[in-house]
Amino acid sequence: MSLVEVLPSVLVRTSERYVTNTTVVRLGGDRCLVVDPAILPADLDALADELEAASLEVVAGWSTHPHWDHVLWSSRLGALVTRHATPEAAAFCRERRAELLAQIDAAAPGHELELCCRLEPGLPAELAESCRVVAHRAHAPGHGSLFFPRRSLLVAGDMVSEIEIPLLDDDSTDPVGEYLGGLDLLEQLVPAVEVFVPGHGAIGDGAELGRRIAADRRYLSALLAGEEPDDRRLGTPWLAAEHERHLALVRGR
Ligand SMILES: [Zn+2]
Repeated sequence: MSLVEVLPSVLVRTSERYVTNTTVVRLGGDRCLVVDPAILPADLDALADELEAASLEVVAGWSTHPHWDHVLWSSRLGALVTRHATPEAAAFCRERRAELLAQIDAAAPGHELELCCRLEPGLPAELAESCRVVAHRAHAPGHGSLFFPRRSLLVAGDMVSEIEIPLLDDDSTDPVGEYLGGLDLLEQLVPAVEVFVPGHGAIGDGAELGRRIAADRRYLSALLAGEEPDDRRLGTPWLAAEHERHLALVRGR
């Protein structure tokens, strides 16, 4: 798999594991932002090779949320390049760093752990004009999707996937309510989106974004109503298990 141009100056690389997407946004000249580089050490190496071949220099990173597969980094992307996230996600990574590093090491051994899970709060200054952080608490604390209005691009993070059901955050006091709130924010962007990139699964256009939001809402309504969701994503065993976790979460409240 290699970098594919999904919009002018926007490249996506998809790793086989969990169909995980890494987004590269050209910022002008040979400079670029890398969002959620993932997922195995070999993927990060291949990404670095491809960026080098394209003469692109990484000047900043963004993590959409503080889960192990979205806070990775490698010295080949630039050990001194600052990686950013929402203030809540950056704080979460500081507080729970040991736990996240253990998860990285267990799931994808070989990463340069000293570089992973180190995030500065807020957007890099040079993106302040061209990019908006869509922050909410669906799926994880401090989830920050990135919306680039002039490019009509949404880098969604771990939402609106055609292969994964909405995955609720155990630590939230209102996991379904906060998830629905996040979907509401993304829905406002539908008319302005030409391309969206989910953390896992296929890239789509604005119409597809609308369909995915509707599918996620259907799943969550069924969950709240105590009905069995009619959702083909539950055919995947680990997602069926996540659905059982959600049932317990909803019942416990
Ligand atoms: Zn996640």
